[in-house]
Formats: sequence, C-alpha cells, structure tokens
Amino acid sequence: MAELSLRKVKKVYDNSVVAVHSFDLEIADKEFIVLVGPSGCGKSTTLRMVAGLEEITEGEIYIGGRKVNNVPPKSRDIAMVFQNYALYPHMTVYDNIAYGLKLRKFPKRVIDQKVREAAEILDITELLKRKPKALSGGQRQRVAIGRAIVREPQVFLMDEPLSNLDAKLRNQMRSEIIKLRQKVNTTFIYVTHDQTEAMTLGDRIVIMKEGYVQQVGTPQEVFHHPANLFVAGFIGTPQMNFFDARLLREGDRYSVELGGDGPTGTLRVRLSPEKEARLLANQVESRDITLGVRPEHILLSEGAEAVSTSVEVAEMMGSAVHIHVSAWGREVVIVVPVSEEESESENRFWRGAAVRFLFRGSASHVFDRETGMNLERQTEPPRVAEPAEDLAAEGAPDVPAEMADALPEPASQEQADPFAEDE
Ligand code: ADP
Repeated sequence: MAELSLRKVKKVYDNSVVAVHSFDLEIADKEFIVLVGPSGCGKSTTLRMVAGLEEITEGEIYIGGRKVNNVPPKSRDIAMVFQNYALYPHMTVYDNIAYGLKLRKFPKRVIDQKVREAAEILDITELLKRKPKALSGGQRQRVAIGRAIVREPQVFLMDEPLSNLDAKLRNQMRSEIIKLRQKVNTTFIYVTHDQTEAMTLGDRIVIMKEGYVQQVGTPQEVFHHPANLFVAGFIGTPQMNFFDARLLREGDRYSVELGGDGPTGTLRVRLSPEKEARLLANQVESRDITLGVRPEHILLSEGAEAVSTSVEVAEMMGSAVHIHVSAWGREVVIVVPVSEEESESENRFWRGAAVRFLFRGSASHVFDRETGMNLERQTEPPRVAEPAEDLAAEGAPDVPAEMADALPEPASQEQADPFAEDE
C-alpha cells in the first residue's frame, strides 16, 4: 500500500515522439486511479514509466515517498496485469499463480496459502488443477490477476486488462475488479480507452489527449463539470450535443440563445444561479460560445418556450428511448426515460412524431468557441501537441547513464519473472 507522486513526468521516445508532457498527479494510498483517453494519448507510456518498463525522460516518480526513477521494475514493489495475459501453457493454474513466489524462494507452505487465498478472492479455486487451454478468456484473465495478487504489491497496475474479452465478459469482469478492489486494499492505476470502464471503476479519472492531461477528477466531476470540449465529448454516452450559440450577460444574469430565422426557431436557456455565479466570478461577458447539453439533460416540454421538431430515429434501449431529431440544421440526441408500462406499450416516438424540447439550464455547459475551455472553470486553455518543428529542434534525448538500470531487464530475465514483464 502506498501513495504515488508523478511530478512533471515527460516521455520522449527515441523517434522524438513526445508521448507524455509534464504529467503531474498525486495519488493517495489505496486510491483507484484510471487513466483514460483515445488510443495513442500516452496512457500506457505513463503506466509503464510507473512500472519501470520505460525510462523517464524528465520529471520524477515517487512510490511510497521513495524516488523510483532509477529503481529497476522488480524492486518497485508493483505488480502489473496486461491486456495479453501470457500464462504458461504447460503449467496448471496453481503453478502459474505460484511461479513468481517460487522464484523468490518463498516457503512452500506460504506459497500454498497465498495461492489459495488469491484463488478464493477470484473464485477460481475449482480451476487450480487445470491448464490454461481448458479455461475461458475471463478465467485466464483471473489467473493473470491472481499472479499479481499473490505478490501483495504496494501498487497494482493494470493496462487494458479487459479489452481482449467480449462485451458480456467485460461487463462481468468489470464488476469483478470492483469486488477485487474491495478485497485487495491497495493502490491501483488502471489504463483503459473505455470511458464506461473509467467511470465505473475510478475514484478519480485522468483524461488524456495527445500526451496532455485534460482533466483529473471524480467520475461525477468530469461528467458534470467537464474542463473542456474534449472531456465533455469523451465522457458520457450517448455523446453530449454541441451547438453554436450566444452567451448573453445582462447585469449578473446569464442566458444562452440558440437559433435564429431557421425553421427550428429560437431557444433561450436561463442558466442556473450556480452557473451564473461561476461565470460572474470569471468576469465572462456576452460572446459567441459552443453550448453543450447531454442527451439526458434535454427535457420534452409542452411549454410555450419549447422548440418544435420531429423524430427521425428512435432507439428503444429498454429503460430509455434515444430519439434523434433535427434542430438548427444538425442532429440532436435526446434520452427519454420510459416507465415499465410505457416500454411495453406502443412506441409514441415513431418516425415523424412531433417532439418539443427544452434544455435544462443547470446542465447546459458553455465553452469558449476557440479554445474549447469551459467558461465556468478557471483553468488554462487545453494544450495541444507541440508543433512538429519544435520536436525536431529538441531532438531525441540521450538516455542519461543513471537511468540505464531502470530500463526493462533482458528478455531472458523477464521470462524468468512473468510479473515483471508481459512474457
Ligand atoms: P496509449 O496507451 O494511450 O494508446 P501509448 O502510451 O501507447 O498510448 O503511446 C503514446 C504515443 O507514443 C503514441 O504516439 C505512440 O505511437 C508512441 N509510442 C508508444 N510506444 C512507443 C515506442 N516504443 N517508440 C516510439 N513511440 C512510441
């Protein structure tokens, strides 16, 4: 169990790709942190730097107060589970889990106790005598997690551990990981590109794009107070709707106006007092903005101020219908919760059905049209990747000699310890 500290951590690969820029994060003891973002945003690189499998170009990483920049992977007291859980095919489940402990010359009795405890936690006691080929994908992944658990690491690192599983199994294993977390009370860093996984697993989520951290926050914070357009669009399904609109300030009051002469007409959204107070504190004046409204925050209404449109597509999801309408020349998705009776009765959202809607002012997000920044937040504009010329000028850094021992160990040794590398 340990707290972690990443201070201005940067990674430049030999091909001069800057994979991670100045990554700053303090992770509390026993916290579950999820790094999430699209492919190539630097999640795995960050995790691998924590593991010691990738050298750190700049900055410092501390585990439990100890600087580990130059500490080899095996001495960092971490365990890692990968997407490709390579089990030893010729060994039983028991021996696969016990292997690392045997290498470390633990007494047989201790090994047996740890293996059985891990098997119990993962509900694979029945499978201990089987070989990997006689296991399902989900069971194999549990064995891989078992191998990591028996090490009782200070920090548990997981790199897309569920992405090789089919959707049903992934959902099941997701709840297994939540249970695992309750039983194995340690610090977790979990990498995924799946925002649902991030939202359901993380105490805090780190959203990354092009090597830059976009926002760090609890699932509620990033959902309800996205720092910028990228986070707003990345978190939440169906995706947030975005509109060109105008923010109007009248004294201390703020509203948003959409539309104009087109067939949809004009909609005026009064922002909530909380939102007004934050805009006022940031001294935001009337201006063009991008308005963001989640599909679940659009309300069907018969009120005079509601705008009229009609259903183009309706997707019945069971407890809700996702309706797609056209307004102000673009598609708008609205999530309409439906009761049990309604879901069994005739669909009222047939193609062409009239729909009138309003935006909830307490859940309408105003973003700077140019920078994408949430105008309620006092943060710097989101950063984008450095221009290529800068990278070329910087050149590929030489690996400082003192970092050489933090590099991955030779392949033969990695194979000797399956927990140190994905072998
Ligand atoms: P993610 O895990 O978010 O998909 P990665 O951390 O794997 O992203 O990669 C971040 C960036 O670094 C990408 O542009 C990727 O192509 C690059 N990259 C990753 N590994 C290497 C490597 N060994 N050498 C050079 N570039 C790499």
